[in-house]
Amino acid sequence: MAPLSLVVIQRMAIVGGGYFLGAWFGVNYTITPGGIAVLWPPNAMLLAAFLLWPPRQWPWLALAALAAELVADIPAFPLWAAISFGLINVFEVTLAGLLIRHLCGERFTFGRLHEGRAFLLSGPLLASALAAALGATIYVILGRADGGYVGAWRTWWFGDALGLLVLTPVLVTATRWFEQNRWPRPSLRQLMEFLALAGLVTAMGVLTFIQNDPGALQFYFAPILLLPLGLWAALRFKVHVAALIAALISLLAVSHLVAGIYPYPQVSSGQAVWLTQEYLGIVVVVTVGLAILMHELREQREQLLVQELDLHASNVRLEAVVDERTNELKRTNEKLHKANQRLKALATTDFLTGFSNRRHFEELGQRQLKRVAAASESASLITFDLDRFKQVNDRYGHSMGDEVLRQLSNSVNNELRPSDLCGRSGGEEFVILLMQADSNQACQVAERIRLGIEALNIEHQSQVIRVTASFGVAEWNGHEALDTLMQKADRALYRAKRLGRNRVEAEQRER
Ligand code: GH3
Ligand code: MG
Ligand code: MG
Repeated sequence: MAPLSLVVIQRMAIVGGGYFLGAWFGVNYTITPGGIAVLWPPNAMLLAAFLLWPPRQWPWLALAALAAELVADIPAFPLWAAISFGLINVFEVTLAGLLIRHLCGERFTFGRLHEGRAFLLSGPLLASALAAALGATIYVILGRADGGYVGAWRTWWFGDALGLLVLTPVLVTATRWFEQNRWPRPSLRQLMEFLALAGLVTAMGVLTFIQNDPGALQFYFAPILLLPLGLWAALRFKVHVAALIAALISLLAVSHLVAGIYPYPQVSSGQAVWLTQEYLGIVVVVTVGLAILMHELREQREQLLVQELDLHASNVRLEAVVDERTNELKRTNEKLHKANQRLKALATTDFLTGFSNRRHFEELGQRQLKRVAAASESASLITFDLDRFKQVNDRYGHSMGDEVLRQLSNSVNNELRPSDLCGRSGGEEFVILLMQADSNQACQVAERIRLGIEALNIEHQSQVIRVTASFGVAEWNGHEALDTLMQKADRALYRAKRLGRNRVEAEQRER
């Protein structure tokens, strides 16, 4: 049980006041001339409070209701009967409240069909019928059960059940709506439509329920004609508006009924009450039930939409991730490709001169010779070796020797055509395969290269280093292997060395 806080006291005041007002309204405005309460509001108040507020507070609220019951009943009933009525009502609402909470969980909104079903079964149908059975007993003991026990039971049950049916949904949904919206601002169109609907319900209600003189009638409106207006409310508005319209129809019917004007003119007053209660029960259940169904469908659709949006968003995220990964892969691939190319270059090229290394030169050279053979073209090979290069290293250092090799490679490149193939075959030895060149042409190329090397001025610490090279030239015989051709050129190179260096010697053909 909750401590008696300010909130609880406020709620007790609301429940006590509402319960008393309900009883007062019930006594003064819902009891027919025959003494039957068509619609009993107080329990609807209490049940709404129980559905809105936590069970810890229920004992306090029940206490307030009990007090209100006593105040309302004392003028008309003995104290023990008033206490009994109060306890019976508290029992009814507690039973209904517990059942509904058990079936629907903590937060009850009338927003789900199963909530509507749980309310209908637990409140108006079960708890109300049980309380009526107890209440009827008190009436019998009091000697006020004119229609016998069953009559008293039915009268209590129907009046009480209709009170719950008509008023609890209005109170719960309106409170929930205010909780959510604080200051609701309906659009002008909604307001106009609501006013039109309420006006039509009032006009049709008055016309329908006032017809107690069948002989004088020009038109006859059957009460069921109001049901479409309830459906209109259910289809176009939220649950609280539909519940309100259903309550308005009930109010119109009951107010005429208690004034002795029956919508079913041809029946007795008792039957008219019964028929009207049944009729109102159906109107409320259908109207509120349909409104709840529509609400649930709308919510499901919204949820689906949200899920769809979520799905779309996560799809977009996924695509972005995939794109990012793909790009990453592409970048990694490119890096790998470049690294591969660098590796390949490292494996095939001499880093100092940029010429092919010996293995790569032989590979390319053999391929070129095959092509040349197929085209029946000529080819020649030049090989050259720097003269006394050891001395350059010894005198200026190894790194200066490297610099000489670098500058020499530039000068050699200047003399070559793109189709010519140059390789570094050893330390300071080089080979050049010339396409479409016979021995003479090759000798001319070699001579140009020789002059180029000779003319190189490589500066070193205000000195100038000069180098020369010796050349051997051999013409390919159209079928021999590259190896053999290189040996022939080597022999010519040795001769050039022997004959004094810094010169070009061609192979001497054996005759
Ligand atoms: P020659 O060929 O005229 O008979 O005399 P050489 O002094 O050039 O004779 P040799 O072939 O005996 O010496 C070649 C020298 O070239 C040995 C080495 O110091 C030098 N050498 C070879 N490769 C490199 C290189 O990559 N860098 C440098 N700096 N020197 C190299
Ligand atoms: Mg040498
Ligand atoms: Mg050498």
